[in-house]
Amino acid sequence: MSSGTYHPKPEHKFSFGLWTVGNRGRDPFGEAVRPAIPPNEIVALLAEVGAWGVNLHDNDLVPIDAAPAERDRIVREFKTACEKHGLVVPMATVNLFSINYLCEYNLHKKHGFKFALEAKPNEPRGDIYLPSTGAYLGFIPTLDHPEMVGVNPEVAHEHMAGLNFVHAVAQAWEAGKLFHIDLNDQYPGRYDQDLRFGSASTKALFWLVKFLEDVGYPGPRHFDAHAYRTEDVEGVKDFARGCMRTYLILKEKARQWNADKDIQNLFAEINSSGIGHVGKYSSQNAKELLNKSFDRTTLAHAGLMYERLDQLTIDLLLGVR
Ligand code: MN
Ligand code: MN
Repeated sequence: MSSGTYHPKPEHKFSFGLWTVGNRGRDPFGEAVRPAIPPNEIVALLAEVGAWGVNLHDNDLVPIDAAPAERDRIVREFKTACEKHGLVVPMATVNLFSINYLCEYNLHKKHGFKFALEAKPNEPRGDIYLPSTGAYLGFIPTLDHPEMVGVNPEVAHEHMAGLNFVHAVAQAWEAGKLFHIDLNDQYPGRYDQDLRFGSASTKALFWLVKFLEDVGYPGPRHFDAHAYRTEDVEGVKDFARGCMRTYLILKEKARQWNADKDIQNLFAEINSSGIGHVGKYSSQNAKELLNKSFDRTTLAHAGLMYERLDQLTIDLLLGVR
């Protein structure tokens, strides 16, 4: 497979926040190591590395105390830069934490916005009331306009809590609530690292990409990550290109996994046992199930061959299949 295969294209819908490639490399105990890049230059940088979209944070485009004329000028120039470089703005992330109020305002103003809630444990406060995507999926149905509200799961935030990100995303998808996604990487138990996508948990993120592509997730593939503190602006471009490249490599690996005869035969064999599958409830099949005799010992002794399936997956990911 030539490296050209992994070049980003608009149909991949790769987007980055201004705050990601514009991140100055601060961490909880380290000062900034890179100069600030003006938003319009970030747009040019993203176009150069092949991104499709750019997103905004609370006030990283318009300063919070900008006068109305200043605000209008900044927005006008930013729009011009996006048009010039062919970038779209698919999402803005803002601090709006009164949900029912916000939904009513959105309806009243006929904005037609949808809201995606992003969970994060332990930061910026030690005790967070809704710390995980699962907690938000429980919270959303309690709102007055639940159809307007979904989730924006972030890899790092679920991994910080030691949770399985693919499971969180699958639950959100099944609930019809995967409105957006924040891709990056993270070692469990640490502060929010926002590492380059796929740089720490390659296997877990292979399953994630496979899931998103298999179900046909239609939304942006947004990278909420930033470069290491060691990097200059060229390194930031390497970081941004790396996020997209790794996504496309994992997408190609997912295609290979789905087309691999040995893997598919084994997968079919594992699923042919019928153990644990009772189908849809009917009084008839409930009666059959109750009358069925199970040989507990034989069932318990049958191996399910997941070790073999997992090793085939590892072989494929490490490039020896
Ligand atoms: Mn994060
Ligand atoms: Mn995020």
